[in-house]
Amino acid sequence: MKRLILFGAPGSGKGTMGDLIQRDFHFQKISTGDILRNAIQQDTTEGRQARSFMESGALVPDELVIEMVRLRLNRGDLDGGYIMDGYPRTLAQAEALSLISATSEKAIFIEVTEAEAVERLLSRLTCSACGAIYNLATKPPKKAGICDLCQGRVEKRSDDNEEAVRQRFRVYAERTLPVIDFYDRKKTLMRVDGGGSAARVYEKIRGLIA
Ligand code: ADP
Ligand code: ZN
Repeated sequence: MKRLILFGAPGSGKGTMGDLIQRDFHFQKISTGDILRNAIQQDTTEGRQARSFMESGALVPDELVIEMVRLRLNRGDLDGGYIMDGYPRTLAQAEALSLISATSEKAIFIEVTEAEAVERLLSRLTCSACGAIYNLATKPPKKAGICDLCQGRVEKRSDDNEEAVRQRFRVYAERTLPVIDFYDRKKTLMRVDGGGSAARVYEKIRGLIA
């Protein structure tokens, strides 16, 4: 397997699980959310185009995201395999992915209840520099406001507020559930119960990909 796709609602733990898999299996994690947030921070043309969509919880237009993923996949550093976190999120993106790179892949669908996901998102903190994920309740940074990994600033993401979270769930149900359904019917999709602690969920995922 060369590509592992992580599917799941906002707050399902895709990013956290992707980080753990990257650490243990030496797969590169590719997070379109991180790529877009970096573009916004660097104030690139793409970042300026993406910003208002992201802040409101809408999807960034397919064209823009597909082109960013194409550039990322063509950089030539992914021979050891890679994890996709947050892509594909629409059927057009899924189609584009198989055109950019048709390769052996697995997909894991991390299932959580909306209530648990929303609770996590509203208490989540994120490193603005490296994207590392923290949580006020379950995994605070060792020094308040400072990333354990890179000393970057740890803060609330601008779309982790109630209104944007509600919108992200709506978009997920309308645009991304059909993609997951497509993988379920046409390709292999493994399901994991994503409720409970990150350590427990990760044990299950490790069992599936080892
Ligand atoms: P989450 O999965 O918790 O919503 P992400 O960091 O994956 O967090 O995504 C945050 C936002 O970035 C999305 O709400 C959307 O605006 C944008 N985004 C990320 N990935 C994509 C994508 N594949 N297509 C369109 N927009 C995306
Ligand atoms: Zn960091």
